[in-house]
Amino acid sequence: MAFDLDSLIRDNIKTLVPYSSARGEYDGDARIFLDANENAFGSPTAQDFSRYPDPLQAEIKQRIARIVSVAPDQIFLGNGSDEAIDLLFRIFCRPGIDRVIVCPPTYGMFEVSANINAVTIDRVNLTEDFDLDVPGIKDAFSDNTKMLFLCSPNNPTGNVMKRDAILELLRSFGAIVVVDEAYVHFSERGSLIGELERFPNLVVLQTYSKAWGLAGLRVGTAFASKEIIALFNKVKPPYNVSHIAQQHILEALNNRETMCNNADKIIVEREKLMDSLKEYRTVKKVLSSDANFLLVRVENALSIYEFLLNEGIVVRDQSRVAMCEGCLRITVGTSEENRSLLLALEKYEKSFVH
Ligand SMILES: *Cc1c(COP(=O)(O)O)cnc(C)c1O
Repeated sequence: MAFDLDSLIRDNIKTLVPYSSARGEYDGDARIFLDANENAFGSPTAQDFSRYPDPLQAEIKQRIARIVSVAPDQIFLGNGSDEAIDLLFRIFCRPGIDRVIVCPPTYGMFEVSANINAVTIDRVNLTEDFDLDVPGIKDAFSDNTKMLFLCSPNNPTGNVMKRDAILELLRSFGAIVVVDEAYVHFSERGSLIGELERFPNLVVLQTYSKAWGLAGLRVGTAFASKEIIALFNKVKPPYNVSHIAQQHILEALNNRETMCNNADKIIVEREKLMDSLKEYRTVKKVLSSDANFLLVRVENALSIYEFLLNEGIVVRDQSRVAMCEGCLRITVGTSEENRSLLLALEKYEKSFVH
């Protein structure tokens, strides 16, 4: 099916007159700024925050553009990738009419965002080995299907989706394909950003919350065609990324090597933890992972979860997630933290398994 961006956009968004912010109207170097009702007497904090931040984060986008080889106007920065997901719904999906496809078990925010925006969800489960059911997804396409959400590496299963399967879906789907790459830095597979030129319907999501270690800053990224990014900019709140967040993102981008080194360390720890976990009697299966966590199938997940909690260690119980019955999702910690986890598991086995 041919991709026609214009036909996918909600009418109210097409005709929307966006808010015109002071810094949007003038971003030059004036001597005195009396245009934004800011407080010229400053803020009661050590660092001054009295001025509004750059609404389009130009400096950061230039830096990122050079790193990932896209144009700055193909980048959106938001208050976490969660903001990008919500904006996608508000740009493309008519409440009560349009539909999206998600492939469970996967990231919960796709469905929550759909529900908030009153958009119908069609679920096409992953296959038994947690890969994409391409024929099933194609069967689910309907005239009102506006978006397909994929997550690779996937949360909570940790595996990457076959690249050919994603490309096939990009080719055959006439609407938006969102690929959430929150964990891409932990995978050797690499990003789909390089495919943006070939696929105008592709939106790639990344985040500063995982490999970059900046979850508290709340910054996420969307990469897409400049036409789609222009829609994001039209709909987003004018000053959606705070000055302090922008400042630290710039600092982080200057220390990209540290991020890469930390991601490498996490990968080493992940493999160590996986090998160790396999030695436990209560552990039935450890899925290989391209992310910073392991999905572990255990005997009596709830009992282990509660035992660990009692030891001061909190993991994620996935027992109630379809296809993840009996599974715990364990984030890879420092080697000391992982050792503590393993010791606690040993203690559990000694006290409960006879
Ligand atoms: C953690 C995670 C994110 C990050 O969301 P932010 O809002 O950027 O913190 C996005 N997608 C997936 C699949 C995740 O697991």
